[in-house]
Amino acid sequence: MSVLIVRVIARTPSPVVRRCARCDGPREFVSSGRFRVNAQKKRLDVWLVFKCAACDATWNATVHERARAAELPDLDGYHANDAALAARWAMALGGAGSFDLELEGERSAARLRFRVPSPLRVRADLALARALGLSRAAAARLVRGFVQDGLEVELDDEARRLVAALPIAADPEGPSVADLRAPELVNPG
Ligand SMILES: [Zn+2]
Repeated sequence: MSVLIVRVIARTPSPVVRRCARCDGPREFVSSGRFRVNAQKKRLDVWLVFKCAACDATWNATVHERARAAELPDLDGYHANDAALAARWAMALGGAGSFDLELEGERSAARLRFRVPSPLRVRADLALARALGLSRAAAARLVRGFVQDGLEVELDDEARRLVAALPIAADPEGPSVADLRAPELVNPG
């Protein structure tokens, strides 16, 4: 049976509002795009460094605590400050941001399969509504809760009609752009 892939790609994380000790008040903290990795007795701590937009004070947001290297498949990405990985973590830690949805596959698809790179979590009905141009109510009939990577959704007749009319894949103008805000995304774990 043909499947349409919906790929979720983190784009721009929203700033995280928290108290800045130096400014002595709530401020927006923006991801610096840089990770800090600290090794102690074969255990690793990983943080994503945010900066206060007003005074540049740093906030190290915990990504992993006391983890073994073998438990961290993205360790090379942390060391290299991989931009896409940093964007995903900034969105997961901050709980909001904008992302793109790329569609790949056949218009005749009867099923959708979501691709959601860790650690992102996305509300399934919202993602589906944005991807297909469905109403929230129509999307919620098909799927609820959070999208897990690999989640497959069976399309009903209305959704299949919409999919058949979508500009799909290989078309640079094609991908739908979603701009989802908190609480659509939530913290991992
Ligand atoms: Zn500050």
